[in-house]
Amino acid sequence: MSAPAVAPTPTAISLADAAREIVEVGRFLSVRNFVPATSGNFSRRLDANHAAVTRSGVDKGELVDADILALDLHAPPPPGSSAETHLHLHLYRDRPHVAAVLHTHSMVSALLSQLRQGEGELLLRGYELLKALGDTRTHETTVSLRIFPNDQDIPRLAARVSEELARRPEAVAYLIAGHGLYAWGRSMAEARRHTVALEHLLTYELETMKVRR
Ligand SMILES: [Zn+2]
Repeated sequence: MSAPAVAPTPTAISLADAAREIVEVGRFLSVRNFVPATSGNFSRRLDANHAAVTRSGVDKGELVDADILALDLHAPPPPGSSAETHLHLHLYRDRPHVAAVLHTHSMVSALLSQLRQGEGELLLRGYELLKALGDTRTHETTVSLRIFPNDQDIPRLAARVSEELARRPEAVAYLIAGHGLYAWGRSMAEARRHTVALEHLLTYELETMKVRR
C-alpha cells in the first residue's frame, strides 16, 4: 500500500459534478447497508482550496444536489454541514492527492473496531483483496488499519487523526472504535473501491474471530 513517489493532484471539478458523484456513491453504499439511518458522510475535492460535503441529518441513499455543500478547506465548516466535516477537511489539507473521502457506519466496521480497539490497529495479512488498496501489488503484505478511540469532540479527534496519519503516508483508511470507517482515494472510484474492499476485509477478520472462538 505504498504511495507513488509523486502523487498527481486531482483535476478541479464543478460543484454540480461533485454532487453527481456523491449522490451516486451514496446510493451505492446505502444499498449495501454501509450507511444505516442518516449515518455516514461523503466529500469530494473541488480544487486545491475547496471541497463538497454532505449535509447532516439526511439519508445518504436519498441524497439530492441540495444536500451537497461547497466549503473552504481553510475556514470553519458552514452551518448544516456534517458534524464530522473536520475529519474530511484535514485529509484534503494534509494530502493534496486525495480527491474523495467516504465515511461508513457498517455493522462490521463498528463491531470489529469496538472488539479490537485495545490493540490500536488491525493488521490485515495474506488476503488477495489487499491488492484493491492503494498501490498494493501482492497479497504477501501486511496492511495496518489504525483504530482511534471514538470522541464526540470532532475537532479534537481530527487533530489526533491528522497527527498520527502524518507518520503513515501510505494509509488509505482508518477506523473509529464502535463507530465506523474512513477511507479515501485519488478519485471517487478509488475511494469507493477502498471502502468496499475494506468492508470485505473487515468481514473476513470478524468471521475468523468467530470460527476461532
Ligand atoms: Zn460517523
